[in-house]
Amino acid sequence: MISRFWQKTSCAILGGVIAVALSTIAWTAEARNRLETFSFDVTQNRIEFATLEGVEPTGQVIADPMRIVIDLPGAIYEGKTVRRNIGRAVQAVRVGRVNEETTRLVVEFAPNFPLETDRLRLQARSPRHWSIQLPESVAAANIQSTAFVWPLVGTLTAGFGWRIHPITNQRRLHKGIDIAAPIGTPILAVADGTVVAAGWDDGYGNFVELQHADGNRTLYAHAHRLLVQKGMTVRQKQAIAEVGSTGRSTGSHLHFEVLVAGTNPADPMAFLPQRYVLFDVAAR
Ligand SMILES: [Zn+2]
Repeated sequence: MISRFWQKTSCAILGGVIAVALSTIAWTAEARNRLETFSFDVTQNRIEFATLEGVEPTGQVIADPMRIVIDLPGAIYEGKTVRRNIGRAVQAVRVGRVNEETTRLVVEFAPNFPLETDRLRLQARSPRHWSIQLPESVAAANIQSTAFVWPLVGTLTAGFGWRIHPITNQRRLHKGIDIAAPIGTPILAVADGTVVAAGWDDGYGNFVELQHADGNRTLYAHAHRLLVQKGMTVRQKQAIAEVGSTGRSTGSHLHFEVLVAGTNPADPMAFLPQRYVLFDVAAR
């Protein structure tokens, strides 16, 4: 079942105002309906959400700043408002509520972003599963959303933050993210830079540290083999090492750190282009 009912109802000073009219989808007021999943796939340029029961979303586009607001009447959301930063064109996506009966999803665009509102499509795959395809112009603008590229394609196995170390059993800050990949997979420089360290550390194993023009540094650890030496200049996407499991490591993976101003570890996910943003709302 596909419904395409983004209809232009008025064109005020603000820009486009769009209403969604959905008559074919039944919604039962008695049901204790709630939002189950909400995600934004940056590569597919698509927003998806699902509710426990069928829902009739209402949507509008509001200018200044440009945003898409989708309300889910009858669907409860009991958590706090959650906002996730995305990139340049779509700056953030958030989930919250209007009141106790209505969940609200908001897609925030960059100020003055020329959103082609007549090309928006709100589609129902089922009465409870919906998606919105954003125009291709959004994806084009999002591509250069961050200065970094991903150092490799792999499976994210550990995030940034405090944890019990799998080998030492000590509680300590995991200063980067872990991306699992086969031994020998090329590790790419996330941005142009200079090699300030390339060598061995008992913890990091074979590692490379790059200095970037903005003052930040990036670190790549547990490499099987290094492909650069201290003092070299590297270009973004240049292979600087190969994935391995050297140092204190339990399997073949890249440990990747971002050191703000060269010293303060920060969550690399905030610097890497986001490919998929999932709001875990069902557990609330
Ligand atoms: Zn790690």
